[in-house]
Amino acid sequence: MKTIELIVPCYNEEKCIELFYKAVKEVFQKLPTFRFIITFVDDGSKDDTLNEIKRVASIAREGVIQYIALSRNFGKESAIYAGLSKSTGDYVALIDADLQHPPELLVPMIDAIEKEGYDRATARRVSRKGEPLIRSAFSKAFYSIINHITVLDLISGSTDYCLMKRTVVESIVLMSERERFTKGIYSWVGFKNKWIEYQNVERIAGHTKWSFLGLLRYAYNGFIAFATTPLRGVVYLGIIITIVSFLYAATIGIAALKNPLVPRTGYNSIMIVLLFLGGVIITTLGVIGEYLARIYMEVKNRPIYIERETNIERVKEKEQKEADQK
Ligand code: UDP
Ligand code: MG
Repeated sequence: MKTIELIVPCYNEEKCIELFYKAVKEVFQKLPTFRFIITFVDDGSKDDTLNEIKRVASIAREGVIQYIALSRNFGKESAIYAGLSKSTGDYVALIDADLQHPPELLVPMIDAIEKEGYDRATARRVSRKGEPLIRSAFSKAFYSIINHITVLDLISGSTDYCLMKRTVVESIVLMSERERFTKGIYSWVGFKNKWIEYQNVERIAGHTKWSFLGLLRYAYNGFIAFATTPLRGVVYLGIIITIVSFLYAATIGIAALKNPLVPRTGYNSIMIVLLFLGGVIITTLGVIGEYLARIYMEVKNRPIYIERETNIERVKEKEQKEADQK
């Protein structure tokens, strides 16, 4: 019997846990040939999420419920990493707690892997209903730029709701970078992926953790994490400025030879060149600084997440005992 493990990052989702469990339970019942594990990763919630998970775990009949509680809020990407690195399922799904990722999509996802020979299946929103126009426009621009200048091939509307084989999970866990731009990581590891399309759904309870600024920062980080083009751009800019300055010097030189008696004043042109070069130098240092900062964070080699509490070992022991009794 194959095991499907759902990894659910949760940050302040106390209202969603039980509703989530009820919804996925219905899908479990439709798939009696699989064993199900739900791994909730409590990403340092400030509300009662963890207790709610424990409560639901104690009354759950269908599927095994595990949890990992992190020591503080590490962000969704780190929470997912925690879940993935502790996962044991033959197939592993990443799914949000707020039911914006319809659990019934698991059925076509499983078919894609079992029957059609894909390594993973990823959900893709085809409508962005209920989303502000400006947000959609920014998102479109982001995808077009990042696909042009990096090796990545990202698709607009792709989510991190997916089901993958063990091999894919293992290769993602190998990518132990701290600045985790998950969409880029999934694309970078490759494998055969099937897109499963669905209509956008509003979250069932609670609030989104994304602000517009937060999304911008996310896009910026993704860009820096996978593109080194800005560094090269800076080199080109330096070369162009050098060539231009040579040309300028040459024209002045020639003019001086032709007409040596005219005094050469040029306060304005000096100011312009000075300010321009100053601006270029500061920008260049800034670009280098951005990458340097990433290197600094990576060489510190801090853990991606810190665990405060988990019941995974207990669940495993209990299952082992039950298996032995049989
Ligand atoms: N989440 C998390 N840590 C965070 C922020 C979010 O684990 O720091 C979880 C959250 O509980 C939810 C999922 O990530 O299960 C998606 O978050 P949200 O619904 O806020 O994002 P949106 O769907 O609006 O993109
Ligand atoms: Mg959501």
